[in-house]
Amino acid sequence: MSEEPLVRTQALTKLYRGGVRAVDDVALEVRRGDVYGFLGANGSGKTTTIRMLLGLVRPTSGEVHLLGQPVPRAVDRVLTRVGALVEGPGGYAHLSGRANLQVLDAAGGGSLRRAARRRRTDEVLEHVGLDPGDRRPVRTYSLGMRQRLGLAAALFRRPELLVLDEPTNGLDPQGITEIRELLLALNREGTTVLLSSHLLAEVEQMSTRVGVLADGRLVLQDDLAELHAPTGRVRLRTPDPDRAVALLAGRVEHRDGDVLLVRSPDAAALNAELVGAGIPVAELGPERRSLEQVVLAATGAAREAS
Ligand code: ATP
Repeated sequence: MSEEPLVRTQALTKLYRGGVRAVDDVALEVRRGDVYGFLGANGSGKTTTIRMLLGLVRPTSGEVHLLGQPVPRAVDRVLTRVGALVEGPGGYAHLSGRANLQVLDAAGGGSLRRAARRRRTDEVLEHVGLDPGDRRPVRTYSLGMRQRLGLAAALFRRPELLVLDEPTNGLDPQGITEIRELLLALNREGTTVLLSSHLLAEVEQMSTRVGVLADGRLVLQDDLAELHAPTGRVRLRTPDPDRAVALLAGRVEHRDGDVLLVRSPDAAALNAELVGAGIPVAELGPERRSLEQVVLAATGAAREAS
């Protein structure tokens, strides 16, 4: 039997007052070991969905299960196993980052003794690229530093599942790379990650699975490897496209100048066929779609259907 997903929603819907359907009939599935990239334009409903997963917003209808427990009803049973960073880290502005983490763990009923808590604090601060010796109050932190501190808080208890709403918000390119590497390293060690982003390239670089929200609806959800799988067509470039079209007759599905898209499951066989007929080939390989193409197609199809 396959394991229960760490996050599972069914027909999840949120209507705000005024009739805004922020989230509409969403069925998410995040499995253990995933880095799940939750994509969508600003206002598409990502934050509302994430807040419902964590029991911070009550759904209008539908179901949420987090680590197998119904949310919001039994969310308390699993929250200690989940680290979350949602909509800008909070914290006490007059305290240092270090003090904030310690207060947070103590307030959350952390079971560590003082020395161990101090050690863990140093460790997570270093992990996210903050200086454990920094005594300045959080009010002096840049947005990027606050984001790192929020991430440190989410990591503090070594959660099984990390839920991060736009974790690279406010970071510079170097910071984005560092956080990406940190999340990938945690994932290799067994942490499941759900992160939202409006940046396709970011999600494409680190996710194993993606879900795409458009106007509150989940228009696509699949493993990245599936989305990048060959399409069953071969893309080739030849200096003699007319002869190639004549040879391949009905198999050419698209032509753009000297580039042809040919229906064929076997690129090597197609190459041999062309070369055998004396048609030179400049470039040839199985067609794969980029995440951008897949997302645009899914979003466009959903708009047309509505
Ligand atoms: P962003 O990346 O900009 O945060 P998002 O994808 O997270 O966008 P949400 O913040 O979930 O989107 O918002 C989805 C829709 O719900 C938007 O139209 C927003 O205006 C609306 N909305 C969000 N919160 C509320 C609220 N408390 N009351 C009324 N409408 C809301």
